[in-house]
Amino acid sequence: MKKILLVVLALILIVAGYILYNTFTFPSKQITVEPAPERVIPPTAKEHLAKALSIRTISHENPEDFDSAAFYQFREFVKNTYPLADSLLEVTYINKFSMIYQWQGSDPSLKPVILMGHLDVVPVAAENLKKWNVDPFAGTIKDGIIWGRGAIDDKISVIGNLEAVELLLQEGYKPERTIYLCYGHDEELGGLNGAVAIVKHLKDKGIEAEFVLDEGFAITQGLIPGTDKDVALIGTAEKGFVTLNLSVAIEGGHSSMPKEETAIDVLSKAVARLKDNPFPAEITQPVQDFMTHIGPEMPFMQKMAFANPSIFKPMIISSLEKKASGNALVRTTTAPTIIQGGIKENVIPYEAHASVNFRILPGTSIADVRDYVINTIADDRIEVKEGTFNSEAPESSSVDSFGYHTIHTTIKQLFPQAVVTPNLVIGATDSRYYYPLSSNVYRFTPFYLNNENITTFHGINERIPVEDFENAIRFYVQLIRNTSDVSN
Ligand SMILES: [Zn+2]
Repeated sequence: MKKILLVVLALILIVAGYILYNTFTFPSKQITVEPAPERVIPPTAKEHLAKALSIRTISHENPEDFDSAAFYQFREFVKNTYPLADSLLEVTYINKFSMIYQWQGSDPSLKPVILMGHLDVVPVAAENLKKWNVDPFAGTIKDGIIWGRGAIDDKISVIGNLEAVELLLQEGYKPERTIYLCYGHDEELGGLNGAVAIVKHLKDKGIEAEFVLDEGFAITQGLIPGTDKDVALIGTAEKGFVTLNLSVAIEGGHSSMPKEETAIDVLSKAVARLKDNPFPAEITQPVQDFMTHIGPEMPFMQKMAFANPSIFKPMIISSLEKKASGNALVRTTTAPTIIQGGIKENVIPYEAHASVNFRILPGTSIADVRDYVINTIADDRIEVKEGTFNSEAPESSSVDSFGYHTIHTTIKQLFPQAVVTPNLVIGATDSRYYYPLSSNVYRFTPFYLNNENITTFHGINERIPVEDFENAIRFYVQLIRNTSDVSN
């Protein structure tokens, strides 16, 4: 008996020793760099962003509401506001309003870098107008803040890039590596006329890019549980999506004599089964990368868990699952979004329909989702059809590439206090179309995202402090310079 106890004790000590060893030797992935040189941003920059926000480049659901005059105006605004970029870079308009600016590098052996963004914004619903502190399309600068629809999604990227390029051109800077600025005009509608056409144009020219940088993440403040540090997230992957439309047709009749199962009965059981049987939780590559980068910077308990994923994985998953945002990181999610059936209270409908939207983890395909759904419903009276607007989850991009390293370095040069880490973007960005040009696709915009402004995305009082916008310009200046530093 005593011997068994001793063996057990020895085992516990070995496991504890292993856990502690991993914890104390969990290496930091953060780098230390010299800060970027100080740089004065001209006072006109903020006015340019304000002006850009005042141009109503709105993507409406109904194509008939498309205001081509506003998009022309935006195009002319960019042309006139950035005369050096307009004259010294090669400018191509795609489908009239999307833009490609090509800044030729001096060394053709280096693969180009693509900085991208989008020109369109979502509408402001009429009933929400009065909730804004200012008119969302007035281009107001007040109390050191630039207000308006598009301030963080995504005119900060577009105007931030262009200001940076114009500043560098004024200084006579010439990049070694070719830089492309690519801006789609219909991201909020799926990007078919913008990003898709831009990528096709570049692909036809045989362009292979070193890396692509798009929106998608920012520097979070107070949004990562377990740490109060600023955390700059670089999206190394994003989720795919598919909508599956479920339909059932069963003879209806009068509601006074219902048959055992009606179309609505069958359909609602299927939807309930899908909700009761969620996809299994798993840790995919970008979330694993997040844990190995954030872990060493965390307090002891979290650090210990992230340093020993083989032991603590079930606990990590169950703590993530508790919140909707964490759950979305570890699981292909299931969301019924439309349900239809019936037209009259005393008539049993013949047909019922439901749309279920799935956001798909990297490594799972649309076909996998479809199979899972059909097997889970296990009722062949239900027809399952894919919606028209779907996207496979792209492969995770490397954290060991020149691109990741360059973005990481630039963040540290401008925001030295921030922990830099990769992560999985939950939503969809235009960058998903760019994989034919590069396998290194990253998503990061240099501004602070916190509990105060996170709801302003597509929401009310979208805004950016002038200082944050100026730092974004500094970031892009430095990023462009760093892309030419091949010793990097
Ligand atoms: Zn956006």
